[in-house]
Amino acid sequence: MSKVWVLGHGQLGAMLKHASMPLGVDVEPVALDAEVVPDFKPEDYITAEIEKWPVTPVTEKLADHPNFVNREVFGRLADRFTQKSLIDDLALKTAPWHLVDDSLSADEVYASLGERALMKMRTGGYDGRGQFWLKQAEGTEIPDDWRNQAIVEQAINFDEECAIVGVRDRAGQMFFYPLTLTLQLDGVLTASVAPLARLAHLQPQAQAMLGALMEELDYVGVMAMECFRVGDELIINELAPRVHNTAHWTQAGANISQFESHVRAVANLPIAQPQVKDTSVMINLLGTAYDVNWWAVPGAEPYWYGKDLREGRKMGHINFSRTLGGDLPGALEQLRELLPERYGQVIDWVVKEL
Ligand code: ATP
Ligand code: MG
Repeated sequence: MSKVWVLGHGQLGAMLKHASMPLGVDVEPVALDAEVVPDFKPEDYITAEIEKWPVTPVTEKLADHPNFVNREVFGRLADRFTQKSLIDDLALKTAPWHLVDDSLSADEVYASLGERALMKMRTGGYDGRGQFWLKQAEGTEIPDDWRNQAIVEQAINFDEECAIVGVRDRAGQMFFYPLTLTLQLDGVLTASVAPLARLAHLQPQAQAMLGALMEELDYVGVMAMECFRVGDELIINELAPRVHNTAHWTQAGANISQFESHVRAVANLPIAQPQVKDTSVMINLLGTAYDVNWWAVPGAEPYWYGKDLREGRKMGHINFSRTLGGDLPGALEQLRELLPERYGQVIDWVVKEL
C-alpha cells in the first residue's frame, strides 16, 4: 500500500485521509511540531496542506525527501511577490501591483494604481489577515513596518468572486472542476455554489489560465485559483498549491472529490475527469458551536473539524447537492434556523443562485 504523508495537521489533512480510504492508499497527516519524527521511507510520498512551514525536526527531515511532491512550488506560491511575478511572466490577468520596498511612496501608488490600493503581506496572510488599504481620499501613507514585507495591488471593482480547482498528474494530464461562485465576507470564504450555468462560458478561460500555471510549474496534484469576475473577464486574485476551501463542495457534488483527486495524483494512481452532479452548495461554519440538529436537515452533509471554538474560526462546513425530488431551498431555510443570525445574508445569497 503506498503511503502519503501530509505536512500539517488541520482539517485539510484529515479530509485527504478520509478521501483516501477507498483508494488503498495510506494517508497520514503529520504535525509540524511533532516530537517524534515519523519514519519516512524513501518510497513514500510527501504532500502538504499548508504553503509555508518553519524549520522543525519534521520539516528538516523532509527537506531532501526524494518524493516531496511539488516541493519547489510551495515557496514560490507562498510568497505573493514570486506568485504575482509568475502570473505576470505567463501574461495572465491579475490585479496590477508593485513591490512595497524602501522607496515606493503612497503617491506613486495612487498615481499608478488608482485612488484605492490593497497592501498584502508577502507571506503568512490568510482569511483576509495581513491586509491594509491605502486610500488617497484619506491620505493613507505606507506604514514603515509594511516595507519590504508586502506587495500592493490595485483595488478591483469586481462583479463577483469565483474559483477553479484543477488536478494534474505526472504525465501532464489535467482535469478541472467547474467554476465555483464564492462569497467572501470580511475576507473569509463563507459560502460557495457550483456549478452554475451562468458561469459556464467562463470555464474555458479559467481552465486555460490554471492549466498554463500548472504546466509551467510541472505541478502534480490539486491546485486552486481564486478569481475576480469583471464582466466576461477573469482576473486572478491568488493561487494555492493544495486542496482548497472553495472546492469542499466536491465531496458532495462530484464522484471524485478534490481530496481524492489530490491523493490519486500524488500517489501516482490514475486521475480521471470528475463527474459532477447537479448544483452543490457549501456553507462554512465560522465560529459556530456544534449543533447536532444539522444532521437532521434533509440533504445536509456536515463535516465537523473537531477544533476548539474561537470567534470566526473555520469549525466545519455543510455541503448540499441538488437531487431529484429534493427541496434544496427548503433545506436551506431549515438550516437558517440552526445558524447564527448573521448567516441570514449568506442563505439569501445562496438561494438567489439556485
Ligand atoms: P485566503 O484565505 O483565501 O488565502 P487571503 O487572506 O490570503 O485569503 P485574498 O484572497 O488575497 O487574501 O483576499 C481576501 C479577500 O479580499 C478577497 O477574497 C477579496 O474579497 C478581497 N480582495 C483581495 N484583493 C483584492 C483586490 N485587489 N481588490 C478588491 N478586493 C480584494
Ligand atoms: Mg483568498
